[in-house]
Amino acid sequence: MHDVVALGEVLIDFTPAGKSENGEVRFERNPGGAPANVLSALAKLGKKTAFIGKVGNDQFGHYLNSVLQKNSIDTKGVVFSNDTNTTLAFVHLDDKGDRSFSFYRNPGADMMLQEQEVDLEIINNSRIFHFGSISLTHEPSASATLKAVAYAKENGLLISYDPNLRVNLWDDLNHARSMIEVGLKFADVLKISEEELEFITGTKDLKKGSKYIYVQFHIKLILVTLGSDGCFYRLGHVVGKCSGYDVDAIDTTGAGDAFLAGIIYQIIEKDYLLSDLSLNEVDKMVSFANAVGALATTKKGAIPAMPSIDEILALFNKTNCIKKGILSQ
Ligand code: ATP
Repeated sequence: MHDVVALGEVLIDFTPAGKSENGEVRFERNPGGAPANVLSALAKLGKKTAFIGKVGNDQFGHYLNSVLQKNSIDTKGVVFSNDTNTTLAFVHLDDKGDRSFSFYRNPGADMMLQEQEVDLEIINNSRIFHFGSISLTHEPSASATLKAVAYAKENGLLISYDPNLRVNLWDDLNHARSMIEVGLKFADVLKISEEELEFITGTKDLKKGSKYIYVQFHIKLILVTLGSDGCFYRLGHVVGKCSGYDVDAIDTTGAGDAFLAGIIYQIIEKDYLLSDLSLNEVDKMVSFANAVGALATTKKGAIPAMPSIDEILALFNKTNCIKKGILSQ
């Protein structure tokens, strides 16, 4: 039995790694892709995970498959494409370690996953299903994703969703909004950034925006990540905020995925029951997840940067979340 199965993209992140003698930026090959990042963080914390997605039958695809395996992620659901190359993303970092991406995906193998290639047995053997919106940008992976998440929901899996909007991957932003909303209909746990919340709801006000999502889509736990400021959350009609940890961030790639892995880890530890959560427990979960996210920014890349339980607990126990508790009903 797997604790978590994730469906979506696994790809190469080329991350800046110093300069050549000519002063040109060097790029380093790093495994990435949000769903794979979430699983690698969970696997590092000892949880049983499985990945479903498509890579090219090329050097990068085989490298990614081997990285998943080395990270103890079950790769039975990985499909190799003979027609399409593995997706590549170049990461550009600014002075604060904040990043932007250029994608090489015209098309990329991750977009080509077909409904009939999704191994439903893996979903049957899992407790939590995680997905994002990058697999919703194009067909056939959009239909494959929606079929898989619908199947997971029908079979009683808890659904975790990170819309992870990457504007330059969509041909049309209205289409992006409507596909992201289709995903919201399935979610039990939603991790969303401030910018994504505003994109979907049209408001920068976190209370109003999260309330709109709660009322429209009945999502039990909504987590709005705020970078170094931590996280705003909504559990039904109650909202709260947990401040972030003060760390030396050098690369924020994968911080959101690490954060979400921290939340999912806590849900598994609490026996998968969201309905019984008290506000204090949510506060602790978010504070723990903030520590996972913060630590992921202190190393380069995403998968290689995921922290161990000892590192997380050391930070978590040192400084608990500063502002916490109910902000309003
Ligand atoms: P992505 O777009 O990759 O999904 P995101 O925008 O959701 O990510 P962030 O808000 O940048 O992710 O970060 C997720 C979490 O990681 C934050 O809520 C916070 O807990 C932690 N974090 C991120 N950046 C920092 C930082 N500079 N210092 C401390 N903690 C950070």
